[in-house]
Formats: sequence, C-alpha cells, structure tokens
Amino acid sequence: MQLNDSNYWLTTAAMPSGTAGEVPARTDVAIIGAGFTGLSAARTLAKRGVNVVILEANSIGWGASSRNGGMVLTGLKLSPETLSNRYGMELTRKMYAASLASIDLVEQIVRENNITCDFSRCGHLEVACKPSHFDSYARSVETIAREFNHQLRVIPRVELADEIGSSIYHGGIVDDSSAGINPARYVSGLAAATLTTGARIFHNATVQQIAPASNNGSRSLTLQTTRGNVKADNVLIATSGYTSSATPALRKKIIPIGSFIITTDPLSDSLARELSPRNRMIYDSKHYLYYYRLTPDNRMLFGGRAAFFPETKNTIRRSAEILRRGMIDVFPQLRDTKLAHAWGGTLDFCFDTMPHSGQMDGIYYALGYAGHGVAMATYLGAKIAEHICGDETDIPFSAIPFPGAPLGLYNGRPWFLPFAGAYYKVLDWIS
Ligand SMILES: Cc1cc2nc3c(=O)[nH]c(=O)nc-3n(C[C@H](O)[C@H](O)[C@H](O)COP(=O)(O)OP(=O)(O)OC[C@H]3O[C@@H](n4cnc5c(N)ncnc54)[C@H](O)[C@@H]3O)c2cc1C
Repeated sequence: MQLNDSNYWLTTAAMPSGTAGEVPARTDVAIIGAGFTGLSAARTLAKRGVNVVILEANSIGWGASSRNGGMVLTGLKLSPETLSNRYGMELTRKMYAASLASIDLVEQIVRENNITCDFSRCGHLEVACKPSHFDSYARSVETIAREFNHQLRVIPRVELADEIGSSIYHGGIVDDSSAGINPARYVSGLAAATLTTGARIFHNATVQQIAPASNNGSRSLTLQTTRGNVKADNVLIATSGYTSSATPALRKKIIPIGSFIITTDPLSDSLARELSPRNRMIYDSKHYLYYYRLTPDNRMLFGGRAAFFPETKNTIRRSAEILRRGMIDVFPQLRDTKLAHAWGGTLDFCFDTMPHSGQMDGIYYALGYAGHGVAMATYLGAKIAEHICGDETDIPFSAIPFPGAPLGLYNGRPWFLPFAGAYYKVLDWIS
C-alpha cells in the first residue's frame, strides 16, 4: 500500500510557536506536557494570576492531543454498571456528571476563544457487534436515565440504516450530546488561548529529572530540563501515554498502548451521507474496538488498536493494513477508495482503566484517560489547577485508589502487551 505516513489533522492546523528565550530559573507552577491536560491547567492557573511554565519535550500538541479521533464523548471508558459495582452509585454519579461537564467545558473554551476547530454536537453512535451486546443496551440506557438523568436512545437493527451505511451490526445506542472536533485545531487554539493568559510554553524542553529543593526554607522542586533548570513550588505531570523515566513512580502505573488511524481520500457527498447519514462519532462494542467518523472534508477516518505497541514506522504500516481490511468489512463501499494518511499515537491505560488525578511524592498529576481523553483531559487539567490554587474541589477521580501492577511486576516497560492483545482478541471472540 502506497501512503503518506502522516497525521491528517496536522495538515489542517498550524501550532503557535512557544515562548522564546531561556526557561526561567523559577516559577510558581511547572507543568510537564503541552497537550490538553497541561494547556488547560496552565490556562486556568494563569487566569488566576499564578506564574506558570509548561515544559514540553517536543512541540505544542505533539502527543495524543493532535493525533486522536476528535470524538468528544460522554461517559467513561468503563460502563456505568462496572463503575457502580466498583465504586458505588454516589461516586459513579459524580464521575458521569464530570464526563458531561467536560464536554461543556470544551464547548465553552472553543466559544470563548473563537477556536475554529469544527466543534459540533453531532452525537455518538455505539454499534453492537453481537446480538448479546445489543441485548445489554436497553439496561444501560435505563440505568443512565434513572441514575444520571441523561437520555440515550436504543436503535434497533431495523432502524440502523438511518444511522450508518453498514449492515454488519445488531443495533446501536445514540447519545446526542457527544461532539466531534478537529483535535489539532483545538489543541492549537487552546495553546494560543493559554499563551494570551500569560502562561509560558517552552518546547524542546525535555524534563529529565525532578529533585527536591528548598526555596528560602520552604519546600520546592527543581526540574532538570534539556533547556536548563527550573525551580518550582508545585509541579503537575500532564504526560499521559508518554510518561517517562523522569517520573518513575507514575510511569509504573501507566501502560502505554498504541492506537492507530487511517483516512481515505475525500468521498463524494452522496457516499459520505450513505456511510454516516447523521455524521456521528461511531465506535463498536468490542474490546479491540474500531472507532470511525467523517472528517469535515468528507474523508472516512477509521481507527483502532490494531497493533498493541506504541507508534513506530512498523506498527503504523502494519496497523494501516489491518485497519483498511477492518474498514472494508464495515463499509464494503470503500473497497476501491484510496487511503491518504496513516498515523499512530499512545494511549495511557491505568491498571483499573480509570482517569486519575491527585498528588504523589509531592507532585501533582492528571492522566489515565484510556482513549477517552479529549474532553476529560481538558476538564481534569482545569480541575487539578483549581485544586493547586487551594479551591475546595470535589474531583471523583482523586477519591479512588490508584492501583499499580499486580504483584508489582512492572517497571514501565509493558512486556505483557502481546499477551494482553491476545487475551482481548479471545474475549471478543467468546463474549
Ligand atoms: C490515536 C488516538 C486516538 C484517540 N482518539 C480519541 C478520541 O477520539 N476521543 C477521546 O476522547 N480521546 C481519544 N484519544 C485520547 C486523547 O487523545 C488523550 O487522552 C489526550 O489527548 C491526552 O492529553 P494529554 O494532554 O494528557 O497528553 P498528550 O497530548 O499525550 O501530551 C503529553 C505531552 O507530554 C510530553 N512529555 C512527555 N514526557 C515529557 C518530559 N519528560 N518532558 C517534557 N514533556 C514531556 C509529550 O511530548 C506530549 O506532548 C486518542 C488517543 C490516540 C493516541
């Protein structure tokens, strides 16, 4: 297959340049990572008059924030049933409410700052790969209406043609409040908005180590970076799936997993409408799921966890082939359509598949979005920033345990990914 190994979204967006000059010797808060989490936190802090610096190893938006599917989804990665069994209904209600508030926050930031990123409340569609998956939908919709006062709709198989031009599914669920976005334009606009608040963003500034320091007798931290040292009263880690040995304790809690995307050439209006009549954000019900949508210029964007390891030239090439076959299984109409782009990015899974925010060894963090982070990263970044400012925040993801690997058998290098990949394939086959 001849294709351009590149991220389609980046062909539509230009990132602002970072702050020029030397990194400062000291700051109130240093944030590591210039994606949705770090930028949203910096914007919130700087608007409150806090002196804040973002240190980014690559460039603004270089991580998952510019590489994702742009699906701004309600809910969490885990189902409400799993969440309430694990954490109880009261905490689950707060988590669900946070997921809804996170989409409102993205919308508010986009509107306030006139970010042209095609934000649209087009809704999402989950499609059932097996009759048994569809059977569970009615119960889920009923629980969500009763417990969270949020309305979803079950779409029986006979009505699915109004939602999707594919005949392989057994029905679906629609949530009209989810949205779609161009993530690269959003992260670029969020960075521009953050810079106007007075926050400074230094790129090519890899944090290599964080060490305790003292600041006139009070505790502070020194960050050693490739652009010099910065002393900070507080540090926030916003490094998601790219969390490195600079923060070893956190790295042991994050499993970096690859996710990959292809796009086709632009489709005709009539074919685009046939495949996705309501322009929904769509994903299927498997563990090894596919997610797909149209781009604003009518390309089919089709993603999945095709290879489990993070992005390299090889995993991108192999994934593009697997995803193309998957896309044609869903939409045989695309058999002769050319692919234009293929790229990958790294997801941050925690051992409990939950987002987490809080403080570890005196350092703040917000991560663990498990592929559900466009809105949640924006939200948790803002919330942890409010917490750093001393606000009484009630963040449900700070109130849950943050588990490490079973038996501690993990040093941050995910040797078990091939086994996990095989396990989920078997699970999709039997369940
Ligand atoms: C292919 C793909 C598809 C996805 N699709 C969706 C989707 O459709 N919907 C959804 O909700 N979510 C999706 N996600 C997840 C979502 O993109 C992420 O959860 C979100 O972008 C995380 O943002 P972040 O700011 O926390 O991290 P990132 O955007 O990953 O930023 C982390 C940054 O930290 C920097 N960094 C790391 N270590 C250091 C260091 N030592 N020093 C300095 N800088 C450092 C990195 O360079 C990087 O820029 C997807 C993710 C991927 C990869």
